[in-house]
Amino acid sequence: MDDLLQRLERRDWRLTPQRRAVVDALRGENVHLSADEVLDRVRDELPETSRATVYNTLNELVEMGEVGELHVAGRSRKYDPNVTDRHHHALCESCGMVQDIQLRSDDEPQVPASMPGFELRRLDVLFSGICASCAN
Ligand SMILES: [Zn+2]
Ligand SMILES: [Zn+2]
Repeated sequence: MDDLLQRLERRDWRLTPQRRAVVDALRGENVHLSADEVLDRVRDELPETSRATVYNTLNELVEMGEVGELHVAGRSRKYDPNVTDRHHHALCESCGMVQDIQLRSDDEPQVPASMPGFELRRLDVLFSGICASCAN
């Protein structure tokens, strides 16, 4: 998996300390954080960081296509730095934890014949259930 920070460095994205802290908050595998969770992590390092800075940085990263946005009905949207490996998500309905589910490469979605020329840009599949610790 390609690292978010490496990708941003290749793009010459201006890396202020706050932006760097946002990127650091999003590093790792299976990371799906709400904007407020990112804000908490950023403020652990840079307590003066404003909410607007974090939100604007996240929006910019999404617009650049470097961070994915996960919309979950009834919950705050989550940000996902893994945009290089196509994957689905599994949501625990109880605690809200989100984990990646890998796609097999032969899982190509079929565009219905009733929508000729439909350009498929994004595929979001969300499996919901109960995680093991909530089931206990
Ligand atoms: Zn759970
Ligand atoms: Zn994900």
